[in-house]
Amino acid sequence: AKTAGKKRFSFYDQSLQSIAMAKLQLEDDLAIAIKDKQFVLHYQPILTQLTDEVTGYEALIRWKHPDQGLIYPDKFIGVAEETGKIIDIGYWVIKEVCNQIMLRTSNLQPPLRFSINLSPKQFKDTNLLENIRHIMQETGVDGRSLEFEVTESSIMEDIEHTNSTLLQLKKMGASIAIDDFGTGYSSFALLKHLPVDKLKIDKSFITDLETDLSDQKIVHGLISMAHKLHLEVVAEGIETKEQHRLLKQYKCDLGQGYLFRKPVPMDHLQNFIYKPL
Ligand code: C2E
Ligand code: CA
Ligand code: CA
Ligand code: CA
Repeated sequence: AKTAGKKRFSFYDQSLQSIAMAKLQLEDDLAIAIKDKQFVLHYQPILTQLTDEVTGYEALIRWKHPDQGLIYPDKFIGVAEETGKIIDIGYWVIKEVCNQIMLRTSNLQPPLRFSINLSPKQFKDTNLLENIRHIMQETGVDGRSLEFEVTESSIMEDIEHTNSTLLQLKKMGASIAIDDFGTGYSSFALLKHLPVDKLKIDKSFITDLETDLSDQKIVHGLISMAHKLHLEVVAEGIETKEQHRLLKQYKCDLGQGYLFRKPVPMDHLQNFIYKPL
């Protein structure tokens, strides 16, 4: 038993070590990925719930790893945030979206907004506004083509900073959405003082919407409350027609999900129109 215990212990040590090694490897690989431009963006349409018209696209990052194939953000955004690499990655995303807008939107029907996810680290970056302004000037993108998605945790940490940053982004013409709404600790009381345009209800509330009566009440309540504060509501992760039907019934403004379209590269979006069956 003693040797078995010992064995297990050393095995445990080894696996901890290999986790640490894997993280270091990931960190190195991320640095190379930035340098060698191994990231790509996929775009997922956001549609009006009632008429199924596309109003915009959310840009979602993927990593084309030379050995491991396509890696999804949940696998690397965390480490990118911990190591600060998210700052450079984030600017690449903003630049890439702006370049794509200038290259491709003649083929897409305007007026469309392109949504960009900002992690809390990026939101706190003191150069954020200046860099966004610079990118807009360089590419010629109209700020009204952009939407920034920020999470509840980003905006609740320092309300004064949040307020002034969001106001500046809005002055540039961009709109603001609160991402993953309902999963954090933000309150409607605070939200009503912030220059926010939209709430994105997290997909964890949508997944079981058909069967879960509490989720139905929460989602319906969030939508009514948001409307009272003149905020638009986007539901994410819509996969079924029944979810879509309930959300329409609750007067949800906008929707996004596999029911309509999975995120795809920009060139797959030309002429994309969702036709309900
Ligand atoms: P998110 O911002 O909440 O994005 C929504 C996620 O739900 C995306 O996952 C999207 O592909 C997925 N999704 C959309 N519709 C459906 C559906 O009907 N069913 C299901 N099951 N999933 C759906 P993805 O692309 O893997 O991104 C995961 C997260 O990574 C994002 O969550 C966001 O927090 C982060 N992320 C993605 N791109 C970026 C980026 O450029 N910058 C930063 N900072 N974070 C990013
Ligand atoms: Ca998002
Ligand atoms: Ca989400
Ligand atoms: Ca998220």
